[in-house]
Amino acid sequence: MQKETIRGRRPDEEKLDKWITQILHDGSDDKLSVSTSTLIPLKTKPKVPPHRKGGKLRVIPLGGLEEVGKNAMVFEYADDIVVVDMGFQFPEEDMLGIDYVVPDVTYLEERQKNIRGIIITHGHMDHIGGLPYVLPRLGFPPVYATKLTMGLIKKQLEEFDILKKADLREIRSDSVVRLGYFEAKFFRVNHSIPDGVGVYLKSPIGAIVHTGDFKFDNHPADDKPAEINKMKFLGSRQGSEKVIALFSDSTNALKPGRTVSERVIGESLDNVIASTNGRIIIASFASLIGRIQQVLNSAQRHGRIVAISGRSMEVNIRIARELGYLKIPKGVVKSLKEVLKMPDDRVLILTTGSQGEAMSALTRMSLKDHKQVQIKKGDTVIISAHPIIGNEQAVATVINNLCKLGANIVNNDIMDVHTSGHGNQDDLEQMMRFINPLNLVPIHGNLYMRTAHAKIARRIGFKEENVFLFDSNGDVLEIENGRIRQTEERVPSNYIVVDGLGTGDIGSQVLLDREIMAQNGIVVVVFRMNKKSKELLEKPFITTRGFVYMKESEKVVAKLKEEAEKSYKQILHKDPKAKQWDVCNYVKRVLDGVSHRMLARRPLIVVLAMRN
Ligand SMILES: [Zn+2]
Repeated sequence: MQKETIRGRRPDEEKLDKWITQILHDGSDDKLSVSTSTLIPLKTKPKVPPHRKGGKLRVIPLGGLEEVGKNAMVFEYADDIVVVDMGFQFPEEDMLGIDYVVPDVTYLEERQKNIRGIIITHGHMDHIGGLPYVLPRLGFPPVYATKLTMGLIKKQLEEFDILKKADLREIRSDSVVRLGYFEAKFFRVNHSIPDGVGVYLKSPIGAIVHTGDFKFDNHPADDKPAEINKMKFLGSRQGSEKVIALFSDSTNALKPGRTVSERVIGESLDNVIASTNGRIIIASFASLIGRIQQVLNSAQRHGRIVAISGRSMEVNIRIARELGYLKIPKGVVKSLKEVLKMPDDRVLILTTGSQGEAMSALTRMSLKDHKQVQIKKGDTVIISAHPIIGNEQAVATVINNLCKLGANIVNNDIMDVHTSGHGNQDDLEQMMRFINPLNLVPIHGNLYMRTAHAKIARRIGFKEENVFLFDSNGDVLEIENGRIRQTEERVPSNYIVVDGLGTGDIGSQVLLDREIMAQNGIVVVVFRMNKKSKELLEKPFITTRGFVYMKESEKVVAKLKEEAEKSYKQILHKDPKAKQWDVCNYVKRVLDGVSHRMLARRPLIVVLAMRN
């Protein structure tokens, strides 16, 4: 999942244009820099702590079970804690104006000194997005991630100005990391972003495997196949070495068959690019580096020049290129300004906005609101993405508007121009067969997706008691003697919402206020009073928004005014020394009652007193 970043500089478009041209051509940019220096290499195996007999491995999901997003899983043995992933989630529909939801890390805060490390499986925001909020709260424990993932993490932390404080340790898929009693090893998986890994985490009482997000793709666009041999090796181990539990991605557990290969998508895109005469605009996810590579290659093959539009796309392309995950064919990328001067059959614009996001370039184009690109008859817009649950309507609106302007639309309904990064049923089965664990714990996804995953496991021979479904985030599992058991214990797993400037959390009162405003509108009451005597200098002033229809408003407002004045006098009569805050609060309560009696509605009421 991708979305514009929350905070940080937002260079104006022209500057950005210049900047992106500069960095794509000669890499001589000094702004928004991402250091590529290698972090702590992990060649030697650190000392093994003394083996402690017995003990339990505790597993606590802080997120990722009641949603697709904000993934975070805690593994705890004795005094050692290892966390896998720290993502964020896009808000649900009832969270008005909230930018992000991050995992509740109260449990970790209370055990800060025990945290040996946070392992990040890949660079998607639902796996790294929580780090900027969570790291400062946890005293900056070490973060382990592969090169590209680390590049994206650094970018995040830089935006929040905490990069220097962070303890970042780069790993490769063949690294071995000792984390207290735990030992972590990794295997490469295919996903919709390069450099994803699954984690093999060994504790004194046995090992588990966490897949991260994955699919099997024999022809991945980023050209590195999954490390199937490592998976098979783990699956071949017997006795106490056997993997106790496989924690596996359930996102696509309802979809039959295999996930379509990126190569098929590359071929479809190539066909469209080859056979189109007009301008081409491709909207996709900024993290689909492999897909972007395929588009750039096709552009070169068919004589198109590419302009990159959308900040997250520009930033990701830059990071991927710097770290060697993307090769930009010479002369293929130019600034939007330059590309728009070319003949139509040479123009290709690669943009974000595949989710119908309100501020995205594609949405602005569809509303004739884009400064540089005006959609015209003969343009072809390819939506190389699927709408994330909840975005369907927004995407449909953008497509309709583009159609109205004469654009020819190509999306997955027409041909395979997008494939998921998550494994379908056959991929999930394959993973279970490779890892061959004693138990399966479906993760990543709502209960209905995880239940579908459990069904596949039973179909291929897992016994009922060996498939474990968590009820919700915050549940605590204990693994002991090869068995999993759910405890009565629950750890805090509230929704921590982040608003605008990324201050970490906003009170639930703010959310509540927004909900009230959205449903019932707002009433503002202003009193002007004498500074000393507190007597009203005039009748209270009242204005409302989104509260009542004009027709009835006069009557209602008159009543509110009357009651406001009456209650103001009442409270001061009762207590002449009443503080301003108490006065306002009293009036507010009275008006709330009045409004409820008259209209069965409770607006947000704001009472202000001005002293003259
Ligand atoms: Zn992912």
